[in-house]
Amino acid sequence: MTDLQTAIREKFQAASRILIASHVRPDGDAIGSLLALGLALQDSGKTVQMVLADGVPATFRHLPGSDQIVHRSEGAFDLAVTVDCSDLKRVGSALDGYGSPDIVIDHHVTTEPFGILNLVEPEAVATASVLIRYMPAWGLVITPPIAASLMTGLVTDTLGFRTSNITSEALRQAADLLDLGVDMSALYFRSLVRRTFAAARYWGAGLSSLEQANGIVSVTMTLADRKSAGYTGNDDADLINVVSSIDANEVAIIFVEQNAEHVKVSWRGLKPEIDVARIAKQFGGGGHRAAAGAEVRGGLDEVRERVLRITRRALNDM
Ligand code: 5GP
Ligand code: MN
Repeated sequence: MTDLQTAIREKFQAASRILIASHVRPDGDAIGSLLALGLALQDSGKTVQMVLADGVPATFRHLPGSDQIVHRSEGAFDLAVTVDCSDLKRVGSALDGYGSPDIVIDHHVTTEPFGILNLVEPEAVATASVLIRYMPAWGLVITPPIAASLMTGLVTDTLGFRTSNITSEALRQAADLLDLGVDMSALYFRSLVRRTFAAARYWGAGLSSLEQANGIVSVTMTLADRKSAGYTGNDDADLINVVSSIDANEVAIIFVEQNAEHVKVSWRGLKPEIDVARIAKQFGGGGHRAAAGAEVRGGLDEVRERVLRITRRALNDM
């Protein structure tokens, strides 16, 4: 076992009250990794508080333990851990009052080592994959409910095992989870396929703004779209996956208006030579080569114009 794995195991063993947090606008890997680590530490006798500043979206409320996830931490802790977060800003208010986490577990190429111990493996397809690698070394057991959370992380971050970073290791890990009795088909359907009627209406509003120019296909989702569709999340309802499937482009972008001063921007690179994490970093965000995001300050029209212009310029240099 490496020094880092030994140090992490010792931190877990020594702690009795553990705080675990993941990122705002949580996706399947954020929630799956949070629950997997949280439930496994509970099984080993620890008191665990699991925190997501934005709570659990309806798409993931079927996961065992998701009802324990709170919006804000409360009380005192011996140890704070973040999963699937590439910087402290991504945690939002979930760690307010705690400062830097003791342990950072992540798989983003843009991650800054903002914790005391930093386990960051950018070639892993998901943070869930990093957990599957090391939980046994930390003395943590993958039970069937934990396996369901880990499978959700693998399935969602790889869009059902079809992203360009897929590895034989990830497929072997999924096979091991199947052997534990996980219903992969049901988890896949719930997290990647099934959508609420409100989400579909929100997609419709977004798709009516579809534009294609200079190799960039983009969609703009306004607060008014969200409201009239009755969609309660503050994300794109995964419309980016639909927009990325449109042929003959280099990059897909979605602009999601958050308020008068902020726009959430998502980029997807549609060709192997394109690195959108580099573009997102220019806007204070991050992510992976093929999928990245940022929360950009400014009004919707101004942010759109600036992001499209700078993205086009960055593409010319790649
Ligand atoms: P999405 O566009 O679906 O929100 O995220 C795509 C990828 O970029 C994910 O890996 C996500 O963690 C990362 N990402 C999205 N938004 C941000 C952000 O504001 N900051 C950072 N550092 N990463 C982000
Ligand atoms: Mn992830």
